[in-house]
Amino acid sequence: MNPAGGDHASDSSGHPWTWPEQTWRAVVDHVRAGRSLKPSSWPGGATCAVALSFDSDHETIELRNGGKSFSRISQGQYGARAGIPRILKTLDRHGVPATFFMPAVSAMLNPAEVSAVADAGHEIALHSWIHEFNSRLDHETERNLALRARDVLERLCGRTPVGMRTASWDFSPWTLKIIREMELLYDSSLMADDEPYELLDHGEPTGIVELPVEWIRDDAVYFNMDRSASLRPYGGPEMVFDIFRRELELAFDEGGMFLLTMHPHHIGHRSRIWILDAIVAAAKAKGSVWFATHADIAAYCARAAGWPPC
Ligand SMILES: [Zn+2]
Repeated sequence: MNPAGGDHASDSSGHPWTWPEQTWRAVVDHVRAGRSLKPSSWPGGATCAVALSFDSDHETIELRNGGKSFSRISQGQYGARAGIPRILKTLDRHGVPATFFMPAVSAMLNPAEVSAVADAGHEIALHSWIHEFNSRLDHETERNLALRARDVLERLCGRTPVGMRTASWDFSPWTLKIIREMELLYDSSLMADDEPYELLDHGEPTGIVELPVEWIRDDAVYFNMDRSASLRPYGGPEMVFDIFRRELELAFDEGGMFLLTMHPHHIGHRSRIWILDAIVAAAKAKGSVWFATHADIAAYCARAAGWPPC
């Protein structure tokens, strides 16, 4: 079912096993991976590109569904208050850049974080208005929220964001259309590859770089916890580091990109911040790794593909 009413909604009403070929092809082709944008080499002769990202969701994790639990809001505030300083200190010690995806509401609640991140030379990029699920919105609402979010980030950090990561990586039938209208350089919400690729819109090349994510390389998957549900972290920090390190090892062996998603309210804790430190150290120990923001990696891949400068 397509709640937001995509262009294939009218003929996809029956059971999927009754769909004619054109129906399931239309669903699949709506947003699809096109050609690989993995470059033949990385800047400075580096073997591997490392893209560290932090989704500064903070209080919006509780607010997104209308929740008003002061306890859970405080858990989110921890990310801004205690997690971010540790993260910035770790990145600064290693001298590596990162990308911070911020919901607009999170940025408005924590303007000092926006300044601190931007002043340290990191990238700030779009991550929804209040961590809403795009697929629950109509086109106009999703579009308005995206444009308002861009205005907020632009105002608070003094730079226009060039990339988007949708909240919860939820991608509606309208999301790519909005990304194209906003003329963004890249998206980082989909999962069709380990390497950068071009997004196709109904089979048409878009010139939008996808920097793919994966739940495997997301700390929230391993650390999420809900007191009243049965959701618990199912492994210690060593297990999480081992998974991340194995992803890094093969990215290096394949001459590709290692992209990691972390959350300040998860990775920023005293028992976990070492994972960030250790994964950066492991990458550095390889000797030929390019640490870059998502924007820089996307721009490099676009140039390597011969696209006009944006
Ligand atoms: Zn998020």
